[in-house]
Amino acid sequence: MAHTLMVYDGTTDATSAGPRTGGLPLAPADFDWPRCDTCRGAMQFLAHLPFDDVVVAVFSCANEPGRCAQWEAFGGGNRAFLFPPDGLVPATVPEAGETRLGAVTAIRTEVVDEDAYDDARGVYGARVGRGRAVLGSWGGEPDWYDADGWPSCPRCARRMDFTAHLEEGYERRTAADFGGGLGYVLTCAPCTRAVFLTQG
Ligand SMILES: [Zn+2]
Ligand SMILES: [Zn+2]
Repeated sequence: MAHTLMVYDGTTDATSAGPRTGGLPLAPADFDWPRCDTCRGAMQFLAHLPFDDVVVAVFSCANEPGRCAQWEAFGGGNRAFLFPPDGLVPATVPEAGETRLGAVTAIRTEVVDEDAYDDARGVYGARVGRGRAVLGSWGGEPDWYDADGWPSCPRCARRMDFTAHLEEGYERRTAADFGGGLGYVLTCAPCTRAVFLTQG
C-alpha cells in the first residue's frame, strides 16, 4: 500500500492557507488558544493540515519538555482540532509561553509505494539525501506499536481514524520536540473531534 508522505517544500508565510508546520493557526473567529492541563501554559502550534475538505490544527505543550503528558491523547498536554475549511482566520497568539515553532515550513505531498510508513520515509529520504525532509504522512496505515492504546472518540466512543503522522521537523534547531519519536493525529469526522499524541 502506498503512503502519501508530507515532505519539506521550503519555507512559507505564517498565515499561508496551504499545508505547513509552524506559523499561525487558521481557526474560527471565536477560537481560544489551548492551554496545557499540567503546566497551564499556552500550547505550541505545530501544524496546519488542510486536506480532504477539513483543516486539522495540531497543538502540543512545549513549555516543560517531557513533563506534560505529550504521549497521551487525553492527558491534557496535546490538542488537535478538526475545522471546516471556510471562514478561518489567523488565531490570536497568547503573549506568554512556547507558542510557535522556530520556522514556518511548507508541506507538499509525495506518494511512495511502500507498505510501511517507515520504509516509505526511508525511500524518500534516500532519494533527496535527507531523512528529515519527510515531515509525516497523511492517511494510510499508521506506524503504531501500542496495540492496547488506540484512542476512542470522547463523544461517540468509536475507535478513532488514523489521520496523519507528524515528524519533529526539517531542522533540529526549529523542530518540535517529540522526544525523538513520532506524532499521531487521529480523528472522528462525524463528531468533528481530533486528538494528537506522540510515541517515543
Ligand atoms: Zn504543559
Ligand atoms: Zn465520534
